[in-house]
Amino acid sequence: MTSTVASQGAVLGDELAALLDPRYVIPGSAADARFRRDVLGKYAADPAFVVRPASPQEVSGVMRIAGLHGASVTVVGGQTGTVGGAIAAPGGIALSLDRMDKVVAVDTAAMAMTVEAGCILQVAQEAAEAAGAFLPLDLGSRGSATVGGSIAANAGGNRVLRWGMLRDMVTGLEVVLADGTVVSSLTPMIKDNAGYAWKHLMIGSEGTLGIVTRAVLRLRPRPVTDQTALVALESFDQVIALLRRLEMRLGGRLSSFELMWGEFYAVMTRSQRESRSQPMAQGHAFYALVEMLGGDAENDPDQFMQALAEAIEEGLASDAVIAKSGGEREALWAVREDMAPALAACHPFLVYDVSMTLAAMPGFVEAVRAAVLVRYPEARFLFYGHAGDGNLHIIVNLGRGSANASGDEDTVDALVYGEVARLGGSIAAEHGIGRSRRAFLHHSRSPEEIALMRRIKQALDPDGLLNPGKVVP
Ligand SMILES: Cc1cc2nc3c(=O)[nH]c(=O)nc-3n(C[C@H](O)[C@H](O)[C@H](O)COP(=O)(O)OP(=O)(O)OC[C@H]3O[C@@H](n4cnc5c(N)ncnc54)[C@H](O)[C@@H]3O)c2cc1C
Repeated sequence: MTSTVASQGAVLGDELAALLDPRYVIPGSAADARFRRDVLGKYAADPAFVVRPASPQEVSGVMRIAGLHGASVTVVGGQTGTVGGAIAAPGGIALSLDRMDKVVAVDTAAMAMTVEAGCILQVAQEAAEAAGAFLPLDLGSRGSATVGGSIAANAGGNRVLRWGMLRDMVTGLEVVLADGTVVSSLTPMIKDNAGYAWKHLMIGSEGTLGIVTRAVLRLRPRPVTDQTALVALESFDQVIALLRRLEMRLGGRLSSFELMWGEFYAVMTRSQRESRSQPMAQGHAFYALVEMLGGDAENDPDQFMQALAEAIEEGLASDAVIAKSGGEREALWAVREDMAPALAACHPFLVYDVSMTLAAMPGFVEAVRAAVLVRYPEARFLFYGHAGDGNLHIIVNLGRGSANASGDEDTVDALVYGEVARLGGSIAAEHGIGRSRRAFLHHSRSPEEIALMRRIKQALDPDGLLNPGKVVP
């Protein structure tokens, strides 16, 4: 039996090597650790092979060979998703697009760029900027996340408030289907209502319906000014009032409204005290990192300052620090994004990203805090998120005596997602469903919706080759 499986594996490997070149077919046991473990170290993978195709045609060939052998295929992008989505099934194929990592073209007349799916987000951002344009998608993981993985997760990031998620930025897409068919519509057109919008089915499908190989992304004029401030607030009513005021006063130029609960700010600034000075005193209930991107170098700084001064005068905020240079701007963003030192001190931790209406958010936070503390009295929490679009991140350390073992994780998952369901929110604001949230999909989707998802999966991937065990329970 073992030798049969082994020889089948050898035939699969030989066929893949004949297609790609033996250098680009690596036995799973010899592959880099990132193909064998997820980013949080929670899931282990044991793929038979890691393959590195260099074109959509080669990806198509891999799918055809996989189909003949009944081998599953999971795309491994930058591995920055935290839901175990890019974990290959045992004996399956892990497919890397790291040889398809180019910016193909930046067209400033059409305001669109064509990129290969393995392109790192930051590389795409820099290419747009070098051409005098702007790719608004921005994530903390910009240096590792790929464009393809981000499309597969319908990533959003820091500027969803103004420019939406990837679904709002992808004008053209190319995918390889489970049977190897290459479907390509690499158009820069914003309006295209010719039949079913299949690209939207692919965006956010986490590699379970097709493999993204190239995409056309919509560009915007490069902002001339960048105003950033850290604002202190004492109540959630102030948070909502300030957000609405800035949206109105800044005339659509508000691009980020990142919210940090007081304890998050305290932990982050404490963890960074060796390398940075604290921009504002601890002790406020909330801190909002506010960004306005504009096109009027003469007037934007005054308008931004005035809007904040008015907000403070009218009691919508209690204090604000405005960055006066690129270095100060970076320091303010670091309070929100430079999480490695704080997370190291918080290890082991559980991580959630959920969404809901802003009005529901403070009640949700207190309900989750109370419910977790009943079970784990020493639990510590970090609450923060892209609140401008209703996105809340939670990091929980369960305290001494609880090693965040899987039983604990199941308990806390049920508490958090149960509360999300009660409020009609979403269990997945970012990162998708992957493997870790599959069992909770019914908290955000009805039985009819889940049945429809199964029918779509069955129609496009009847043999279950693409990223099995993810998304649909
Ligand atoms: C520090 C940090 C900050 C983050 N900030 C944000 C944020 O602000 N907003 C946000 O939305 N997300 C955020 N994320 C989540 C994550 O970065 C995004 O989901 C990311 O864009 C995924 O890209 P990736 O290349 O790392 O994909 P991976 O994690 O490698 O894969 C994600 C999923 O997509 C599939 N996949 C990968 N490539 C392809 C492809 N070419 N075709 C089909 N399927 C594919 C994988 O199989 C997997 O199921 C953050 C993550 C980290 C670690």
